[in-house]
Amino acid sequence: GARYDVVVVGAGSAGIATAASLLKRKRDLRIALVDPSKDHYYQPGWTMVGGGVFDAQTTVRNTVDLIPSGCDWIQQRVTVIQADDNAVTLADGARVYYQHLVIAPGLVLNWQGIEGLEGTLGRNGVTSNYRFDLAPYTWELVRTLRAGKAIFTQPAMPIKCAGAPQKAMYLSASHWRKNGCLANIDIEFYNSGGVLFGVQDYVPALMSYVDKYGVDLKFTQTLTKVDGDAKRAWFKDADGHVTETEFDFLHVCPPQIAPAFIQESGLSDTAGWLEVDSASLRSVKFDNVWGAGDVMNTTNAKTMAAARKQAPVVAQNIVDVMNDRAPSAVYDGYGSCPLTVEHGKIVLAEFTYGGKLAPTFPTWLNDGTKPTKLAWTLKASILPAVYWQGMLKGREWFAGPGQ
Ligand code: FAD
Repeated sequence: GARYDVVVVGAGSAGIATAASLLKRKRDLRIALVDPSKDHYYQPGWTMVGGGVFDAQTTVRNTVDLIPSGCDWIQQRVTVIQADDNAVTLADGARVYYQHLVIAPGLVLNWQGIEGLEGTLGRNGVTSNYRFDLAPYTWELVRTLRAGKAIFTQPAMPIKCAGAPQKAMYLSASHWRKNGCLANIDIEFYNSGGVLFGVQDYVPALMSYVDKYGVDLKFTQTLTKVDGDAKRAWFKDADGHVTETEFDFLHVCPPQIAPAFIQESGLSDTAGWLEVDSASLRSVKFDNVWGAGDVMNTTNAKTMAAARKQAPVVAQNIVDVMNDRAPSAVYDGYGSCPLTVEHGKIVLAEFTYGGKLAPTFPTWLNDGTKPTKLAWTLKASILPAVYWQGMLKGREWFAGPGQ
């Protein structure tokens, strides 16, 4: 099999950023990015697509054009990692050997976890901003709904971008309000969890929009089944009690799980997530195995903003170890979640491990616990360029929020 200094599993946000950051530090590294997908997505843009702000095409590029020059792209899926042999096995059976391995395959959206959902997605008023091909359908439904019941769901944690289910709701409501049909639309938010947002400091601002839009909040209610043709949905509460309700519009955030091959490779915690040291992002089981992005069992918010901070940490630590030094870089758990509470305003949540607030800007410029226009301008006009031109190129000058 081929041999590389570094093999990176996954050429998504975290994988490409880490490879680019490695090359910034050591130009001559031989790096392979392994990913079967010919398309690479800017997923934070899907909320804006569903809200009618971005065109879907601006959120996708060809993977081949984003692979940092000097890296090889192996267009294959990794089926198993043999860390004892310093090797990964590909779907075609080939093996690729590494000196260091970065595991960044993201997480798996478990659409099948909800009975009847997959077959009705994209029809019958059932949609999700969690898929590139469905986010435009969200906007189509929002534009055409004039009256009825709109339901938004949120599954159990952890999920990527924990704010995204309610972002979809606020942007939809904002449009209905502007259109003058909000009074005729009943909005219900069914949340598997027991709180609106995990970091309490942001909840008052969000609650003011819940009140403004007349949202009926339902906690510890989990979507279990959908019948699109009949326009009915079923929810289970913590005691196993099931309620059935009708809908005209249903936005689903699917349950999310770790990729099975992490557990099958003996690299996971008991819940299946890649087990790493939360500061160095090094595997707790193998010294030359590292993690980046959503796949890890770290307690940060699973966001692209987090991946942007993790990439240089992993790159620096690998280079340190290659130079016979101890890993010197530390990830503090930074993640960010720009909550699109209305068209033109965002509550810019930024925090580190333990829900400790970590605002980029001083309060006088942008108070992260309040809706601001500046944060909207960032998300709508600046962060996409920071992603394509900064993060994916290993340019680490942008220390600000995102994405
Ligand atoms: P991904 O970017 O998902 O990439 C994983 C890659 O691994 C993919 O290319 C996949 O093909 C590949 N892969 C998977 N399995 C294998 C395998 N076995 N072998 C090889 N390759 C494999 N983040 C923010 O910061 N701000 C936001 O506002 C925001 N909003 C969001 C809104 C939505 C609707 C969604 C869906 C996400 C949002 N996010 C947001 C989250 C952000 O997109 C993710 O946290 C980020 O993309 C994680 O990067 P990743 O590299 O871990 O995973």
